[in-house]
Amino acid sequence: MTVRLYDTQAQALRDFVPLDPGNVTMYVCGPTVQSGPHIGHLRAALGFDILRRWLEHRFGRVTFVRNVTDIDDKVLANATDGEPWWALAYRMELEFSRAYAEIGIAAPTYEPRATGSIPQMIELIELLIARGHAYRAPDGSGDVYFDVRSWREYGALTHQSVDAMEAATDADPRGKRDPHDFALWKGAKPGEPADAVWSAPWGAGRPGWHIECSAMSRRYLGAEFDIHGGGLDLRFPHHENELAQSTAAGDAFARYWVHNGLVTVDGQKMSKSLGNVALAADALATRDPLVVRYALGAAHYRSSLDVSDRAFDEAEAALDRIQGFLQRVLRYAGADPAVLVHSALPDAFVAAMDDDLGVPQALAVLHETVRAGNAAIDADDAAAIDAARAVNAMLTALGLERAQAAEAVVAGPEQAALDALVQTMIVQRADARATKDWAAADRIREAIAAAGIALEDTTDGTHWSLSPAQTTPPRGADGAEPRTKENR
Ligand SMILES: [Zn+2]
Repeated sequence: MTVRLYDTQAQALRDFVPLDPGNVTMYVCGPTVQSGPHIGHLRAALGFDILRRWLEHRFGRVTFVRNVTDIDDKVLANATDGEPWWALAYRMELEFSRAYAEIGIAAPTYEPRATGSIPQMIELIELLIARGHAYRAPDGSGDVYFDVRSWREYGALTHQSVDAMEAATDADPRGKRDPHDFALWKGAKPGEPADAVWSAPWGAGRPGWHIECSAMSRRYLGAEFDIHGGGLDLRFPHHENELAQSTAAGDAFARYWVHNGLVTVDGQKMSKSLGNVALAADALATRDPLVVRYALGAAHYRSSLDVSDRAFDEAEAALDRIQGFLQRVLRYAGADPAVLVHSALPDAFVAAMDDDLGVPQALAVLHETVRAGNAAIDADDAAAIDAARAVNAMLTALGLERAQAAEAVVAGPEQAALDALVQTMIVQRADARATKDWAAADRIREAIAAAGIALEDTTDGTHWSLSPAQTTPPRGADGAEPRTKENR
C-alpha cells in the first residue's frame, strides 16, 4: 500500500515517495506572531500534526520544521511604547505554543524564528541579485525586489500568468520594474524601531515575509525537501513567491505542496471586520481540549470547516461514545489491563489514512469498531477485547490517545488505591534491600504474595500483577458477578 497525497501544484493525487524513505522532510509555514491564535491557526497546525503522525507511522521518522514569523509589518504595527515588537512577538509565540500543546499538537523538530536566520536570508537575496532575478530599488530606499519577469516559471504553483495576477502591494510601486515584483528586503524607514533593522550589502532594513521561509526551509531541510504545507490562503502570493525565489536561486525546493482548507464560523468567513474571529483561548476556556482536537480534526483537511457550538457538541458526543465503550469493556474484562494494549490498526483504517489522509473515513472505521465492540459485550463475546485494542490503536494514530488515558483511571478507584498501596510496599522493600535488611525485605514480599500479588524485578523497576491463580475472571457465562475472595 502507498500513501497518496493531493499535491496542490499538480492539482492531483500523487503517490507519496519521500527522498529518503527513512526520513520524511516537511516544512509548514508557522504563524506571524502579531496577535494570539484563532481557531483557523489551530485547525491548520492540527491537520499537519495528524499528517506528521501518519507519515511517522508509515516511514518511521519525520523531520518537521515550522517557523515563527517574529518580524513583519504586522508585528511592528501591533507593538506599543510599553511593549516593543520583540516582546509582543515572544508573548504571542508562547500563546501559540500553549494552545498547540493543549490540543496535543507535537512540537516541531525545529521551530526557527525568522530573526534567527537573517544572514541566511541576506545570502539568498545576494544569490538572486547575482543570478539576475532581483534588483535594488533605484530610489535609494534600500528595498530589494524579486524581478518576476526574469523568471519564466513565475506562477507555476497557482497556474496563473503574471498579467492575470494581483499586483504586489508590499512596497512603494514607484521603485519597481513591474507592479508584480515583490519585496525581498525592505529598507529601513524613518520612525521604525532601531532594533528592527539589520545591516545588509544594499542598505540596512529587514527581510520581506516570503524570503524568510525560503531561507529557513533551505537552512533546516536543504535545497530539496518532501512536503511544503500551509493554509489554502497562503498559496498566493506567499507560496508562489517562495517557490519563485527558491527555484530561481537554483534550489529544487518542495516536491509536494499540501494545503489545508479554511475555517468558517457559523457559516461565515472569519474576519476582524465581521467581529466573528473565534479565538483559540475562548474555545479552550469553554471546551475540553480533547473535544476541540476532535472537532477541528474530524473533517478532511482539504475541506472547509465550519466551527459552531453544534460542531463541538457533536465532537463531545462522539468522544463520549468511544470512552463509554472503553469503560464498558474494562468492566467486562474485570479491569484487566490487557484491554489497554494496542492491536494492529485495522486495514480499512490504514487504507483511509493512506488515501490523502482520509480522517472522516478513518473515524468511520473507529466508530464502527466501537459499535461492533458494544455488540460483542452484549453477546458476551471476547471479541469485545480485540475491538478495544483496535480502538486504542486508532485513537493513538489520530493523536486522541488522551481519550484512553482517562480510561485507565476510570478502570476503577479500587485499582488506583491498590496500585498506590502496592507501590508503597515496593518502595519499602527496595529500602530494606538497600540497607541489607533481608528479613524485612522478605517479610514485605511475603505479605504482598499472601495478598495474591506477584512481583517482577526488571531493569526498569519492579512491576506487580495479580498472581494467575488469584486473577479475577471476567463475568462468567452464567451472568454472575465476578467472584471475589470474600464470597468465594
Ligand atoms: Zn512561509
